Amino acid sequence: MTEKLMYIGGEWVKGAGTREVFNPADGTKIGIVTDGTAEDVKKAVAAARAAFPAWAGTSVTARAALLLKIADRIEELAEEFAAIDTADNGKPLRDSLGDATDSAACFRYYAGLIDKPSGQTYLTPDPENFAMTVREPIGVVGQIAPWNYPLMMAAWKIAPCIAAGNTTVFKPSTLTALSSVRLFELFDEVGLPAGVANLVLGSGATVGQEIAENPGVDKVVFTGGTDTGRQIMKTAAETIKGVGLELGGKSPCVIFDDVDTDIGVDWALFAIFCNQGEVCSAGSRLILQDTIYDEFLEKLAARAEKIKVARGDEPGSEMGPLVSEEHMNSVLAHIETAKSQGARLITGGYRLTDGELAKGWFVAPTIFADCTPDMAIVQKEVFGPVLAVQKFHTEDEAIELANGTDFGLAAGVFSNDIARAMRVVRAFRAGITWVNSYHPTFTQAPWGGYKQSGIGRELGTYGLEEYTEVKQININLAPGRVDWFEN
Ligand code: NAD
Repeated sequence: MTEKLMYIGGEWVKGAGTREVFNPADGTKIGIVTDGTAEDVKKAVAAARAAFPAWAGTSVTARAALLLKIADRIEELAEEFAAIDTADNGKPLRDSLGDATDSAACFRYYAGLIDKPSGQTYLTPDPENFAMTVREPIGVVGQIAPWNYPLMMAAWKIAPCIAAGNTTVFKPSTLTALSSVRLFELFDEVGLPAGVANLVLGSGATVGQEIAENPGVDKVVFTGGTDTGRQIMKTAAETIKGVGLELGGKSPCVIFDDVDTDIGVDWALFAIFCNQGEVCSAGSRLILQDTIYDEFLEKLAARAEKIKVARGDEPGSEMGPLVSEEHMNSVLAHIETAKSQGARLITGGYRLTDGELAKGWFVAPTIFADCTPDMAIVQKEVFGPVLAVQKFHTEDEAIELANGTDFGLAAGVFSNDIARAMRVVRAFRAGITWVNSYHPTFTQAPWGGYKQSGIGRELGTYGLEEYTEVKQININLAPGRVDWFEN
């Protein structure tokens, strides 16, 4: 196996050591990646700084043309990217194929957005003054990504960043770096100028920490856990860097009794169990009206038990392994805590070890009923296939339960009463919400959380703005003396 390298200043670079990469479905070794250090981050920042003036000065048409070429190549290689992410992360092929398509769409969207009108003009109180704003790139952006959507997280970060004229130092998760390496091979192939996008590989404690610390980085944009985000924000405070944080969640899916049970069950399953529950916006709390509670849960458990859990490259796989043994153990520990705190386990709750599954990190779809707000399973992010069900009677109770955590990433409501659905969705303290739906995510619309789920937005026009500074320009239309001082 050839060692996968970092991409710094347009060169493929070895780090100080190496790291082995394993398939979470069976523990087999699938690659070796180089392991970078803080020194490599410093070199990448220097390369990004050197490349910034020319890239910021490159015409939007030329920048867009490169992004479009990248989008085309991702689309052409979608199956290869899907195979890489499925082997690396474990997710079913249908999921990773969707990620590749969305990643291409993200590059294409920002290629199209970058030359659209922006800025404002003002009629100031002084008629001889004219004011306007322009948006300019920030400079060098440090970008740090998690392991749950390896290629897509790279696309969400890099596409708007370089489209806006910034340069980037990008770090993927140590667990899932392979598709990022392939993406940077495409950057090289299409002729992205050296230093515009730099890939640094290595741990959060060394490489990630240096990205947040380095004074040459103007903004740090991070997706990952809330505790890591807190640490990055503290580090970034030293140099007053801008921060963008997309953090964890414990998102509610509220279902009222006027909804067809089969439809409600179908969405509730999708909300929590797609991508093995390793989704920041997973509907990990089902908030269910008491009048349908028992019948609904019976059907929900029966369908959860039929989900086809298998290695991601097996035809028909609906749920793959968790990303690592360590993460599986963390999910199993959350399950044990829920049991000990009195949550009622109605299905799952264990590692799957039948036949070939014993070689990987598979956990059965798990549902806890009768959960109360004081329980850890209601308050803590599990980031796995574990659902906590809470019961409500009135609309007000549903809203109070839905908003009753420190998180505020996403929320969904199901009801055929449009006025009620609107009241509830307006009351949600969350950044991404759905009515009679859960999960659909669009490159065109903003993504990000309230409360401890983050700061800032990705995607859409809001996502592009996060990669710009706003400059005010004032023009004196009657140049002459100011005469503020008499002599
Ligand atoms: P994590 O916080 O452990 O790691 C994320 C990234 O940060 C990795 O690249 C890691 O190496 C790096 N890192 C770790 N410590 C660091 C430090 N001290 N300084 C700088 N970088 C550091 O998260 P994870 O386990 O990879 O991902 C799961 C988490 O990500 C979940 O909490 C999930 O909710 C969140 N997530 C959020 C979104 C969103 O859009 N809000 C999307 C996906 C995942």
